[in-house]
Amino acid sequence: MRGYGMHSVNNPGWLEKDRLTCGPLDAIVKPTIIAPCSSDTHTMHGGSGPKENLILGHEAVGYIEEVGADVKRFKAGDFVVVPCCTPNWLEPGIQNKVTFSHDSKPFGSFKFLGSKDGVMAECFHVNQADANLALLIDGVTPEAALMTVDMMSTGFYGVEMAEVGYGDTVVVFGIGPVGLMAIAGAALRGAGRIIAVGTRPAAIEVAKAYGASEIISYKDGDVVQQIMETTGGGVKKTIIAGGNAETFAQAITITKEKGNIANINFYDVTETLAFPALVWGLGMADKTIRGGFCPGGAERITQMMDVIKYRGFDAEKIITHRFEGFNTMEEAFHLMDKKAPDLIKPIVYMNI
Ligand code: NDP
Ligand code: ZN
Repeated sequence: MRGYGMHSVNNPGWLEKDRLTCGPLDAIVKPTIIAPCSSDTHTMHGGSGPKENLILGHEAVGYIEEVGADVKRFKAGDFVVVPCCTPNWLEPGIQNKVTFSHDSKPFGSFKFLGSKDGVMAECFHVNQADANLALLIDGVTPEAALMTVDMMSTGFYGVEMAEVGYGDTVVVFGIGPVGLMAIAGAALRGAGRIIAVGTRPAAIEVAKAYGASEIISYKDGDVVQQIMETTGGGVKKTIIAGGNAETFAQAITITKEKGNIANINFYDVTETLAFPALVWGLGMADKTIRGGFCPGGAERITQMMDVIKYRGFDAEKIITHRFEGFNTMEEAFHLMDKKAPDLIKPIVYMNI
């Protein structure tokens, strides 16, 4: 089986692997469309620690090739939407609702990049198919469904963690595909003013279409000062979907007392998150800081598709580049890595 991934840190390339085996509860899926993600490029660069001989990719829709003997909801030939997080639902942590989507250890549900090969391959393995795979809903295109599996689920989770409500003024740091989905989610939840931080022209256009009222450039002077000035002293709802450790400190600074800071951004293993005690009211400002990982499983992804179908949400707006053919995964992956100014999200039709 052939796939695209990493031989070792900073050494991407094509890999040849043995044919997969399907457990009794599992499925083998042949991808029809995949989307490279920032998390794939971070992983290739060693951002989550050393890894080798790993097929990358965790965003896919496709056809089931094979199901295990105990799978009840699916059969070979079904078209499925595959959440990027596929928890082991037999874990006690999930049954106790302690770790909703992450098995019993951090990132435990992120199996594609964490504990096995990913989806950028001729086929890939999905654990517990009945609980983790979703059928495409009528009225939702495969491209839109592909945007639910990580981008929508993650961006919307930022909005949930920040507890955005009617009329709130919200700041979203980052207008990549994740930040854009956070903007859209905030708007769907009834936010009032949405201030987005970023610079890529293509993304600015979509940010406005999704509901951003203003765009602030972090390259154009002090971000904190710009936000403080335009809001008259900060906001109560802040979502971090881009930037670095400095952004984390800025987010805490611009969030008012009793406000919520929700982080969905990925920090490199080498980074330290720190901020001056004063911006946290010397520890007593009653600001809530939460960081969370993309919820997975069939039900979550079906809910995201319902937002597309019944709310008319246009999830495809973030797709800027469409590639055709298995071998174009390499080009799409490198485009994602370079972050061209006109790029938001590339997708690849596998044609296999
Ligand atoms: P992108 O790289 O496409 O977008 C990042 C955005 O952050 C861009 O708009 C960029 O600006 C902006 N940015 C960069 N530096 C700064 C800065 N110093 N201050 C403010 N904004 C800045 O990333 P994605 O949208 O694909 O992903 C965003 C993050 O979410 C990544 O870290 C990714 O790994 C993570 N992620 C997390 C998941 C989770 O479950 N929590 C799941 C999936 C992804 P510009 O417009 O200038 O490029
Ligand atoms: Zn992703």
